[in-house]
Amino acid sequence: MRPIERSSRIYVAGHRGMVGSAIVRCLRRAGYHNLLIRDRSDLDLTDQRQTAAFLAQERPDYIFLAAAKVGGIQANNTQRGDFIYQNLVIETNVINGARLAGVERLLFLGSSCIYPRDCAQPIREEYLLTGPLEPTNEPYAIAKIAGIKLCEAYNRQFGTAYACVMPTNLYGPNDNYDLNSSHVLPALIRKAHESKLAGSGRLEVWGSGSPRREFLHVDDMADACVFMMERAVAEGLYNVGTGEDVTIAEVARMVMDAVGLKGGISFDTSKPDGTPRKLLDVSRLASMGWKASIDLAEGIRLTYGDYLESRALAGSGFQAGSEQVRTP
Ligand code: GDP
Repeated sequence: MRPIERSSRIYVAGHRGMVGSAIVRCLRRAGYHNLLIRDRSDLDLTDQRQTAAFLAQERPDYIFLAAAKVGGIQANNTQRGDFIYQNLVIETNVINGARLAGVERLLFLGSSCIYPRDCAQPIREEYLLTGPLEPTNEPYAIAKIAGIKLCEAYNRQFGTAYACVMPTNLYGPNDNYDLNSSHVLPALIRKAHESKLAGSGRLEVWGSGSPRREFLHVDDMADACVFMMERAVAEGLYNVGTGEDVTIAEVARMVMDAVGLKGGISFDTSKPDGTPRKLLDVSRLASMGWKASIDLAEGIRLTYGDYLESRALAGSGFQAGSEQVRTP
């Protein structure tokens, strides 16, 4: 297997999404200059033939598979068919296309929702497939589990070195701010900002506020992905997170502080809570020497700054969080 060098040909699938774009930034900062990226108009990853032809022609030394259909609790719960189909088709096209093209190494990005809903906390990698999944995101989780098993089976049968990372809830630049399809943190940032502008002094939070979630800044996630590539991690499942969680009510307060919204919180209990808790055990990656470095309060402040900047850049034509196939 060829060692990874600064001149290695690295394909980042999903480079326009939040995670893919963070991986591209991280690789460029580290001096990797031979990046293969393709816009969706040039390469449709849901098209098996196009994807296989691209990979056979380019034969990357390494692939980050960050392309996926992702979204928050409501999008997962309502667009169930899209979530299972698009994710299955993208990952089978890229992973199988990579194998056929002789690509030896790949990093597949999943999500912490692959683990059973009620599993012990913090969640260790070996808890995979030990119990029923959270119903609101079961189709997405099943697709991601299939991707993990595809990597595992190909490694055994064909000797590839395809590893998998499972990030906790991510946030940061390039996130989706559409309130119907976004995750909680971008939704709260947008709602808090709009509430401040409207002078309403209230933040509307879905559910009871009691579920616990672990949040990781996407630049930390990208750093973990590049760390794995550089350490030549050849296979297996790796949780990526901070190892700490907060309640949704607590994160709502942190967002209000960052945005400068003074007032109260109303809980809309007609909306689902989802999994009560999903805190990852991050000791596998920690034992290799990686840990997150961006503190949550600081990360929220930075992300609010990015949000304001992207609004200002786009001026009145700002399309917050237009839905797209993007990274988890
Ligand atoms: P999950 O981690 O897969 O459940 O996905 P989300 O990030 O969408 O939601 C996390 C938690 O935040 C759930 O308990 C939601 O009900 C809660 N939540 C509170 N307010 C919001 C909101 O405005 N949008 C979203 N997406 N979730 C919210």
